[in-house]
Amino acid sequence: MTQDSQSFTPERPLRVAVVGSGPSGIYSAESLIKQAEVPVEVDIFDRLPTPYGLVRYGVAPDHLTIKSVTKAFEKTLNDDRVRFLGNVEFGRDLSREQLLEHYDAVIYAVGASSDRRLGIPGEDLTGSLSATEFVAWYNGHPDAATRDLDLSGVTGVVVIGVGNVALDVSRILAKTADELHTSDIAGHALDVLRGSGVKDVYVMGRRGPVQAKFTTKELREFGELEAANVALRPEEMQVSEAEEAAITDNVVKKNLEVLRGFGELERRDVPRTVHFRFLVSPTEILGDEQGRVRAIRIEKNRLTESGGAEGTGEYEEIPVQLVLRSVGYRGVPLPGVPFDEKAGTIANEGGRVTGGQGEYTAGWIKRGPSGVIGTNRKCAADTVALLLEDVNSGTLAPRAGSREALDTHLAAHPVYTFEDWQVLDQHEQSSGSAAGRPRAKVVRLEEMLGHRRG
Ligand code: NAP
Repeated sequence: MTQDSQSFTPERPLRVAVVGSGPSGIYSAESLIKQAEVPVEVDIFDRLPTPYGLVRYGVAPDHLTIKSVTKAFEKTLNDDRVRFLGNVEFGRDLSREQLLEHYDAVIYAVGASSDRRLGIPGEDLTGSLSATEFVAWYNGHPDAATRDLDLSGVTGVVVIGVGNVALDVSRILAKTADELHTSDIAGHALDVLRGSGVKDVYVMGRRGPVQAKFTTKELREFGELEAANVALRPEEMQVSEAEEAAITDNVVKKNLEVLRGFGELERRDVPRTVHFRFLVSPTEILGDEQGRVRAIRIEKNRLTESGGAEGTGEYEEIPVQLVLRSVGYRGVPLPGVPFDEKAGTIANEGGRVTGGQGEYTAGWIKRGPSGVIGTNRKCAADTVALLLEDVNSGTLAPRAGSREALDTHLAAHPVYTFEDWQVLDQHEQSSGSAAGRPRAKVVRLEEMLGHRRG
């Protein structure tokens, strides 16, 4: 420890604000309290009253085991040195300048809340939306809870992209109401999906099965669906001997094994089919007179030598009424924080914000939308290591702010604490349990704020 780092004392600990309470935000706080050699105080802000970000609003509702990571998150949020300040929006309730005044360092860990577009005609027709929006709707995100998603008349759905998000949305559409009942899907979505007449779900990759981004465990689940068959086209599954011999990634090998296994499954007399299509690109979404999606036009591709996709000039039209593009998330700039437009991330060097004043970043908004939840643990630890390096070198020194000054600033604002969240959490679990479900999510902001301690 250097002379400078000794300037942080139990009376005046290192004060860090974390913006975002998703995995990367909570892992940042965990890393800080575990790694810091100086006394530390961490305030985690979230614009929503609920913590856990993508774990609550991104992870598929039927992947409850993945969500059990919140047990570890609770431990961090229960630590005396850590506070959760929910319902406080960066840029609205607290500006960057105010954070820099009240804290010695700020870590931005806000994830990537927007999505990438396809850039093809018809993308804005009714019935064409991003997987991000669809996921937010079925997971009960307050921004999407009031969205009136109508599946009446929808028999065909196309999902563009072959990553794990594409598999999530396809699986949710292919599952029966009984299968979904045991998930924590939002009640409004369960009601709509219960009445769904979806027959065909097309999952489309622009390249071949070898280049698909999904992982094997997630792919396997399609072989276990109660009421959906899996269909593949042999000509799209062809992998040359040379290509097969060059595969070094075990996930790709296993994926191929599972896909080929699907080809051998007996077709059951069930109402739905999930069609895996490879080497096809959407070129246009076609609408009816009311401006609603009626079909998608796709072009068949061939693989180039460098592993890219190249159109063959051969087209196909598939009647569908819903198009979900699942071609990646995208970060959104934070007011006043340097942003790299091309990458869709906060401009940073290894986690230090470029030109920042004691500002750091972690998770998807630092490195882009990739990896599983656990990937963010290492990502956050790397950022915190840099922050602590700056404490040790004296680059980060105590500023004027204090916990009291911040609390005074927010005194009139309805901050939602971790204890408040525990009340809501308990309520959701018990009302879910009464209906034989793991949880019944409260989806409206005003209603959430009504569940408080005391
Ligand atoms: P992703 O894994 O990057 O997949 C994006 C897909 O979109 C790729 O198949 C990509 O194809 C395709 N794509 C991109 N631009 C396209 C275009 N213009 N036309 C057609 N296809 C296009 O992204 P993601 O599925 O959004 O997932 C984000 C991260 O979250 C990933 O790391 C994922 O593993 C993770 N995740 C994990 C789980 C889980 O563990 N259960 C669940 C959900 C998400 P190309 O490869 O050809 O570009």
